Amino acid sequence: MADQNDSSSETDLRRCTECGQQYSIQAYLSSAAHYFAAPYNYEHGCEKYCLACWLGIGPLDIDSPC
Ligand SMILES: [Zn+2]
Repeated sequence: MADQNDSSSETDLRRCTECGQQYSIQAYLSSAAHYFAAPYNYEHGCEKYCLACWLGIGPLDIDSPC
């Protein structure tokens, strides 16, 4: 029985349930860690939504006619 937990934990890719975009919690933790705490509390939504959707500025919300 092969244990492949190591490889799966390195590629922590998730798909946003809002916009369908793939994202990595690990990447957010390293580049935008402050969003996981108050007042953003992204830690509560990081498993379902990408950071952009959680903040309300996701691709689906950005529709500027320019
Ligand atoms: Zn999203």
